[in-house]
Amino acid sequence: MLTVNAIAAPSATGALVRTKIERRDVGPRDVLIEIRYAGICHSDIHTVRGEWGEVPYPLTVGHEIVGQVTEVGAEVTKHAVGDRVGVGCMVNSCRECDNCKAGLENYCLKGNTGTYAAKDRDGTITQGGYSTHVVVDEDFVLRVPESIPVEAAAPLLCAGITLYSPLARWNAGPGKKVAIVGMGGLGHMGVKIAAAMGAEVTVLSQTLSKQEDGLRFGAQHYYATSDPATFEQLANSFDLIVNTVSAELDINAYLSLLRLDGTLVNVGAPPQPLPIQVFTLFGNRRSFAGSSIGGIAETQEMLDFCAERGIAPEIEVIDADAVNDAYERVLKSDVRYRFVIDVDSLR
Ligand SMILES: [Zn+2]
Ligand SMILES: [Zn+2]
Repeated sequence: MLTVNAIAAPSATGALVRTKIERRDVGPRDVLIEIRYAGICHSDIHTVRGEWGEVPYPLTVGHEIVGQVTEVGAEVTKHAVGDRVGVGCMVNSCRECDNCKAGLENYCLKGNTGTYAAKDRDGTITQGGYSTHVVVDEDFVLRVPESIPVEAAAPLLCAGITLYSPLARWNAGPGKKVAIVGMGGLGHMGVKIAAAMGAEVTVLSQTLSKQEDGLRFGAQHYYATSDPATFEQLANSFDLIVNTVSAELDINAYLSLLRLDGTLVNVGAPPQPLPIQVFTLFGNRRSFAGSSIGGIAETQEMLDFCAERGIAPEIEVIDADAVNDAYERVLKSDVRYRFVIDVDSLR
C-alpha cells in the first residue's frame, strides 16, 4: 500500500479537508501516476454532497486527472515511466459484455467502475484525483499529447469527452448547424470542439453575458434564451442540439428548434423526469437522446483531436486549500470556465 496526500469530504455537509489516503500496490497491469493537475467537475460536488445517492465517507473525488507515470507493473505495455497521461471518469469495466467488446466501456452492461465512490474489483472504494498519486489499470489510462498545456489537459478527461462523443456520433461537421445549450465548463468545450469539427455553431445561453467569449471560442451566433423571440427566430433550424444544462428547462421549446431529422442530445442530468411532448417529436421526425462520456478509444481520439487542433479548456488554476471556495463559485456559475487544482500544493 502507498499512503498519499489528498483532500477528502468527511460528510455530505462538511468542508473538504486535507488527509491521507491509501493506494493499492502497483499490480502487474497497473500504472502509478504522480498527479499534477485535477479538474473540478460539477459531478464532484453532487457526489460529495450526497445528491446522487449514498456515498462512502470520507471520500476523495476528482475524475479529470493529468500527471506523469512514475512506475509500471511487469506486464504493462501501453505506458512507460515518464509518460504524460490522464485518467477520466472510469478506471475499469467488465471487459466481457457486448458494449465493452465494442470499445464502449462507458456503457458497460455491468456498469463501469467510476474513478471515485465506486466499488473496485478488489472490493475497495475508488478514490479520485484530488490527490498526489493514483494507481490505475493501464487499459484505462490515456496518453496526453505534450502539445496540450498540462494544466489545461485535465478538464478534457470529463468535460472534453462528454461533448466530443455526441458531436462525433451525430456528425457535427461542415454543413451542419449545431447549437450548444449552456456556456459553462461543458458548454464552452462543446463550442470549441464543434467549431473545430467544421460545424456552424450557435450558443443558446440564458443571457448574452458570455457572448464575446462564445464568439471567440468559435461560435458564429449567440442567443439569449431568456428572450422569447429567440425561440420564434430559431424554430426548425438545427441538425443537432447538445444540452449541457442540468437545471430544468422547457425541453419542448428546445426540441422545436430542430429541423428535419434533427436530434437533441442531453448531457446535463436534470434531477426530475422531463415532460416531453411526443407531438413535438412527430414534427420534423425529431429525436431526443442522451450521451454519457465516451469509451477509452474515443477519449484517446478526442485528446489527439484537441492536440492537433490546438483546443484546450479555459481554466482557473487554484491551490488545494481553495477547493471549498471554488465549489461555491461553481454553484454560482462564477468560473470561466473550469477550476483546476494544482496538485503540487498537496505535496
Ligand atoms: Zn465530470
Ligand atoms: Zn462490460
